[in-house]
Amino acid sequence: MLNENLCKLGTETAFSVLAKASELQKYGKTIINLGIGQPDFSTPKHIVEAGVKALRDGQHGYTPSLGLIPLREAVKEDLSVRYGFCPPISQIQITPGGKPVIFMAAMIYGGKGKEILMPNPSFPIYESAVSYSGATPIFYELDERKGFSFDADEILSKITKQTTLIMINTPHNPSGGITPPSEIKKLVSGLENYPNITLFSDEIYDRLVFNTSPHSLLSYPEINDRLIILNGWSKTFAMTGWRIGYGIWPAKVIEYADKIGVNYHSCVNTPTQFAALAATTGEQDCVDNMKEAFKRRAELITENLNNITGISCQMPGGAFYAFPNISQLGVSSELIQNQLLEEYGVAVLAGTAFGCYGEGHLRFSSANSDALINEACSKLKQLTLKYV
Ligand code: PLP
Repeated sequence: MLNENLCKLGTETAFSVLAKASELQKYGKTIINLGIGQPDFSTPKHIVEAGVKALRDGQHGYTPSLGLIPLREAVKEDLSVRYGFCPPISQIQITPGGKPVIFMAAMIYGGKGKEILMPNPSFPIYESAVSYSGATPIFYELDERKGFSFDADEILSKITKQTTLIMINTPHNPSGGITPPSEIKKLVSGLENYPNITLFSDEIYDRLVFNTSPHSLLSYPEINDRLIILNGWSKTFAMTGWRIGYGIWPAKVIEYADKIGVNYHSCVNTPTQFAALAATTGEQDCVDNMKEAFKRRAELITENLNNITGISCQMPGGAFYAFPNISQLGVSSELIQNQLLEEYGVAVLAGTAFGCYGEGHLRFSSANSDALINEACSKLKQLTLKYV
């Protein structure tokens, strides 16, 4: 007999679409991959060199389970400078990617009879991990007309006695939407009435914002004893394959996050931690340059998509995604996802890969060249002619 919760585990469709695209490529089909969410840039050279140097210097052993102390100090310094506050390094845990922080939070705050609030659509691992824990995911919608931002009153109205955790994500995957600070402030104020609820803020795209300043829940002292922050190096420094991220935990639960980490992965691989240290303490122009490219491409893809009859697209505020509305085509987003890949060789994701409220949308990753973005959009245009 297997664990009965296994059937509640979801997945990340981005990886199955990637596998399907690779399979088609193997048989000679040319694929434009706008499916998986990762920067198309290489990790900056000084970061790679720091990882290689660590290997050459014999940094081959385990590190403390929470991560190298200089790395956690660098994270604290970086966040303190950028947001004015960061808890002590005893509350900072270096993890193999940002993703494990989601799973750990679900294990710590979930379980049978608990309710955890999360956006829908959202990064699919939220729903998967929470369901696996035995807790019930409770969805709140994002307002497309307001650039896919959340409504604090809607979130607060969904709180019950069973609610243990509220998950938020801004800039948001899959839409690139940003929730304005005024709405975040409203949520934090509303939470004064619910002192036992913890807030989970996924800030993995915090530095990839186009026309606004980065914003963090760390800037709200009234909530910092019941705040979890997820962040990392994957998106900001083009380090998705290195597998390194971090979680900042409330003082009263870091012990459990550390125990889960020790049970599961012991520590993050050592050279990767040295590479992340070089990323955080080194020159930051590389981040600004990548961000500028993502912004320009976001404008390009939005313009292209809005030029297709039957499709409308909000200009994303950050990250590297576009989330066009295709509901006027009158068919499911999964059908369009499959036809676009199989008939036109363009990999994108159906909005439903991010939850039921993603229906009527597609997610494009705009982390690709201008030429391929243009070509992908013109192929989508050809496909839409079947329906409009
Ligand atoms: N959170 C969000 C919103 C994401 O989009 C992703 C990756 O796509 C992650 C977390 C996980 O990032 P990592 O690759 O560092 O595990």
